[in-house]
Amino acid sequence: MKTSFFFIFIFAFSSVYAQPEPKDTEDWSRKPIKVVPSKGAKPPSDAIVLYRRKVDLSQWEHLNGGNVRWKTIGKSMRIESQTGDIQTKQKFGDIQLHIEWKTPDPKEDTGHNMGNSGVFLMGLYELQIYESYYNELYYNGQAGSIYKQHIPMVNACLEPKKWQSFDVIFTAPEFRDDKSLKTPAYITVFQNGLLILNHVEIKGPMVYVGYPKYENHEEKLPLRLQEHGSRVSYRNIWVREL
Ligand code: MG
Repeated sequence: MKTSFFFIFIFAFSSVYAQPEPKDTEDWSRKPIKVVPSKGAKPPSDAIVLYRRKVDLSQWEHLNGGNVRWKTIGKSMRIESQTGDIQTKQKFGDIQLHIEWKTPDPKEDTGHNMGNSGVFLMGLYELQIYESYYNELYYNGQAGSIYKQHIPMVNACLEPKKWQSFDVIFTAPEFRDDKSLKTPAYITVFQNGLLILNHVEIKGPMVYVGYPKYENHEEKLPLRLQEHGSRVSYRNIWVREL
């Protein structure tokens, strides 16, 4: 009896006072896959390339089905007025997105349509594209805003006709079985390498009038680019599913 008590005491003492070792906190459970990072216009090795050259238009379709009627010029595609939005044939949830865009010569645009386009994550949540180097619009409607929801931290815009980039980390919203919202969408955006939105909560799908409200939808949906009558161009678009 005495002996077993002694051993229990020793065991308890040693487990409480055992010295931690470096290997106790080493995690070998998941080996990160080697990925070759993006270099210049070359996407990372694990990216889904949605547009690099003319032929890549095959990965896109008109919003209402059918072929894209935007114009391809060299390695870029340019919006044609009255042709409608386009979307990817593939659907996405959580993603890292790289997309390059430029607004046209302001002489081609008028009024409230200065370089207006937009990247609609999941076809619903708009990261605004606009000519915001010279043009002042309500700040939650300028380039880099989550349209009518979040003002970008800084104005990182370049002049019209210059290529700009968005690098986006997007977390899709989650819904419960009863279709109520479990967790909202979040977005982080770098514009031309500058952080402009830091893990902001998206309040719901883009609405022009009124306030956004979530509605249950699929886990993955297409990426949409907006046609708003302005000849905005796009190139070098790639996605990494997270
Ligand atoms: Mg827009």
